[in-house]
Amino acid sequence: MNIILLAPPAAGKGTQAELLESKYHLNHISTGELLRKSASREDDFGKKMRDLLESGELVSDEIIFEVLNKHLETCENQNLLLDGFPRNIYQAERLEEMLKEKNDKLDFVFFLDVPKETLKRRITGRRMCQKCGSAYNVNIDSLKPKVDSICDKCQGTLYQRNDDNEESFEIRYQEYLDKTSALITYYQDKQILYRIQSDKSKEEVFQELCGVIEKGMKK
Ligand code: ADP
Repeated sequence: MNIILLAPPAAGKGTQAELLESKYHLNHISTGELLRKSASREDDFGKKMRDLLESGELVSDEIIFEVLNKHLETCENQNLLLDGFPRNIYQAERLEEMLKEKNDKLDFVFFLDVPKETLKRRITGRRMCQKCGSAYNVNIDSLKPKVDSICDKCQGTLYQRNDDNEESFEIRYQEYLDKTSALITYYQDKQILYRIQSDKSKEEVFQELCGVIEKGMKK
C-alpha cells in the first residue's frame, strides 16, 4: 500500500502520518524531516540547507531526489507513506515512474484541507522532538507535551523549527498555492484523491482517513 499526504504547511501531515504508520505498518517518509537532518550537519552543505529551509521556499528537485533515493536504499519496508512529497507535478511524475519500475502504484492521496487562518495559528505553537521528530502544539491543549519541552514518547528535547514563524509561513503557503496545490487536480483526474476536512481534532481526522482506507481495501 502506498499513500501520499498532501496538504498546506502545518495542516497535520506529520501527526496523521505517525498514527497511520503504526496502524498499517507503513514506512513513513517525510522529506521535510530528511532535509532537516541534512541541515543539522556542521558543514557547508548543512549551512546551505539551514538557510534554504528557513527561507520557506521549496528545495530543488535535484536535492530532494538525492536525499530521498539515498534514504529509500536503506528501507526494507516499501509500503510508503509519503509526507511532504511530491510537492510539484515534476516530482509526482517521477514518483509514478519509480513505482512503475517496481510494478507498484499509488493507492490513496489524502488532501488534508485546512483554512489558512487556522494554519497560521497552529504554526507558532508547533514544537518538534529533536530525537524522534514527533510534533506537539503548545497552543492546543490536546497536543501539548505532558512535561514542558520534553517529548512524551522518547524524552527527547522539543524545539521550534526555524521556519515556523509568520514570515516563512507566508512564503511556504505561497509556494504551496503556486506549486503544490496543482497536485489536487492531478490526482483527482487519476481518481485517487480523497479530500479530508482537517480543521478538526487529530482523532477525528484519523478516523476519517482509516474509514477511507478500510473501504478501499475491501474493493
Ligand atoms: P510543512 O510543515 O511546511 O509541510 P515540511 O516539514 O514538509 O513542512 O517541509 C519543510 C520544508 O522543506 C519546506 O518548506 C520545503 O522548503 C522543504 N521541502 C520538503 N519537502 C520538499 C519537497 N518534496 N520538494 C521541495 N521542497 C521540500
